[in-house]
Amino acid sequence: MYDFLIIGCGFAGAVLAERLAKQGKKILIVDRRDHIAGNAYDYYNEDGIMIHKYGPHIFHTNSEEVFKYLSQFTEWRPYEHRVLASVDGQLVPIPINLTTINKLYGSNLSSSEVKEFLASKAEARKPVTTSEDVVINAVGKELYEKFFRGYTKKQWDLDPSELDASVTARVPTRTNSDDRYFTDTFQAMPKNGYTEMFRKMLSHPNIHIMLNTNYKDIVDLIPHTKLIFTGPIDHYFDFCFGKLPYRSINFRFETLDQHQHQVTGTINYPTSNLYTRITEFKHLTGQKHSRTTIVYEYPTSEGDPYYPIPRKENQEVYNQYKKLADETPDVYFTGRLGTYKYYNMDQVVAQSLALFRKIVKESENADQ
Ligand code: FAD
Repeated sequence: MYDFLIIGCGFAGAVLAERLAKQGKKILIVDRRDHIAGNAYDYYNEDGIMIHKYGPHIFHTNSEEVFKYLSQFTEWRPYEHRVLASVDGQLVPIPINLTTINKLYGSNLSSSEVKEFLASKAEARKPVTTSEDVVINAVGKELYEKFFRGYTKKQWDLDPSELDASVTARVPTRTNSDDRYFTDTFQAMPKNGYTEMFRKMLSHPNIHIMLNTNYKDIVDLIPHTKLIFTGPIDHYFDFCFGKLPYRSINFRFETLDQHQHQVTGTINYPTSNLYTRITEFKHLTGQKHSRTTIVYEYPTSEGDPYYPIPRKENQEVYNQYKKLADETPDVYFTGRLGTYKYYNMDQVVAQSLALFRKIVKESENADQ
């Protein structure tokens, strides 16, 4: 008899398994894949190079609680991600910053001059509701076309005018020369990789792990008191309100007989090629090796569900599932797929820690 049956062995499921096991609960965590760590899974490929199976995962957070929590299971390697975009035959920093503008326009503007320059290009949009509005409102049409339109179209197969503002609002515009992709307080990679960190999280004797298993095949066979579901919420309810749409990605890995392929971790291709970006893992992991592995990302609508598509009509369908979920006793939904939300790893950890506190409170109330 398990206290908790947890579906999904990514961040959402593993954090809850670890917390609850430490409280003395008996846990069975099930995943249909043949490995732990969910989308953060990394491993050494046949060439001996550490790669991320589901695309580059860079850890960053402003939450001291999340960083401290994960630090129990890993040491860290400081790493600040930098991204260049291939635009007009040049490689320029993205998010757009002072260097980007000066390189693109062959100018030598100062910070305050760039601010004026961008203000002169910006076209006020009111209200700002779509991803197109966000960018044009901030930097105008020309930079929108160069950096955002094609990339967004490839990534989502939708024009930015058809997508919620939240998608492009994630990418800021800077007037200084800070070329880091993220500005969070904590930016680091697990020193021995994500999978190793998960192994430590899940090493408690109260946690049993079952891989290669679709939970539907075992849920009625394994006695349990409560269930935590981190897979797609629509799947749990047999798509009764219809299928929630996701974007997926085909990853093409290539190992090259050279020490380094590109000058930075990721290069974006906003207007050329069918892929959106190329990432070279050795920048992220710091691994020393005479060869190097890169990954090309080709967005697609088929395949594993990766990105919930942030559109009003999808949110409305999700709200129906959420209502049903709230009415389903002894089942909790969490994680990117369980709550149909575009969360980063740290946000999922924070969400699961919050759910853990809620579960503890509920059981204290029940005991009173
Ligand atoms: P997942 O990691 O997806 O885990 C869910 C698990 O549930 C999966 O392992 C799945 O196999 C399992 N499952 C589903 N259905 C069933 C079933 N029926 N039976 C059994 N098991 C099931 N975040 C960052 O912070 N930084 C980044 O740089 C970053 N880069 C990303 C790049 C890509 C290409 C993608 C797709 C995501 C990226 N993310 C990044 C987001 C990050 O992957 C997620 O925040 C995180 O993985 C979410 O964890 P999760 O546990 O909610 O979901």
